Amino acid sequence: NPFSAEGSWVKGNLHTHTTNSDGLLSPYQIAFLYRANGYDFLSITDHNRLTDVEGLSSRFDDFILLPGEEVNIGSLHLVVFNIEEEIRSNNSPQEIIEEVSKQGGEVIVAHPYWSALTMRELQEMNGYLGIEVYNATCDVSVAKGYSNVYWDALLCREKYIYGFAVDDAHLGLSLRRPTDTCKGWIMVKVSKRDPESLMDSLRKGLFYSSTGPEIYDVKIKGETINVKASPAQSVNFIARNGLGRRFFALDKPLSEATYTMKGNEGYVRIEVKDGKGGTAWTNPIILQKDDL
Ligand SMILES: [Zn+2]
Ligand SMILES: [Zn+2]
Repeated sequence: NPFSAEGSWVKGNLHTHTTNSDGLLSPYQIAFLYRANGYDFLSITDHNRLTDVEGLSSRFDDFILLPGEEVNIGSLHLVVFNIEEEIRSNNSPQEIIEEVSKQGGEVIVAHPYWSALTMRELQEMNGYLGIEVYNATCDVSVAKGYSNVYWDALLCREKYIYGFAVDDAHLGLSLRRPTDTCKGWIMVKVSKRDPESLMDSLRKGLFYSSTGPEIYDVKIKGETINVKASPAQSVNFIARNGLGRRFFALDKPLSEATYTMKGNEGYVRIEVKDGKGGTAWTNPIILQKDDL
């Protein structure tokens, strides 16, 4: 639970393009943009190309840049970060995950909705950290930003993975649609502001995702889960199949909600929705069968 863990919050985006593939800005410019917008870390993930961020990191104070790559295997895209050497896309997805892991990195399955992945593809791969529950560029360009249905289908099948909100920023400027930067991010609880602590917290799931709302606290006490958040129109406790519950704001916005578990939920994850189209997603709380 990131809310009870010691440490401080850092904000970041793990999926970004630059002029090294089809992005508009250079690595320095995009890092500058995110730093100027209050981000604490960024992973640069160009298509099938590793961007060296070592020289770039030294040009910023207190900003973590993770070397990364988006490995495209047909329409299946894997966002990989904290790697040392470029990953080639001619191996199978499973071989790529294993190669990344050997290098000390991690893998997120990018935009399942946009990729029209099958459940089988997602179930057969092992060792990835999670999927993109929200992808800003897929949202603003083709309205396929949200992959929460995939997430729940996997969680219902006891494949316990994390959900990440990302930008996948390309910054293709168009007057006809909003930009795809600083729209989806993660808030990570870290013990220290360095790449090792950040990677450690990501692996432990000590983060939540957002496109707007802030989650202040999640407390699990006995059979209840209480969440406190910025003003919300609804708070969703999403669990296995028909379990879980949705709470709506009636006369005034919700600032908290409490769910009482029945014990057979398998998992419970929380969504906080504001009135402006923003959502925040916690990672799933996994219920051990003998928890209750
Ligand atoms: Zn992609
Ligand atoms: Zn991308």
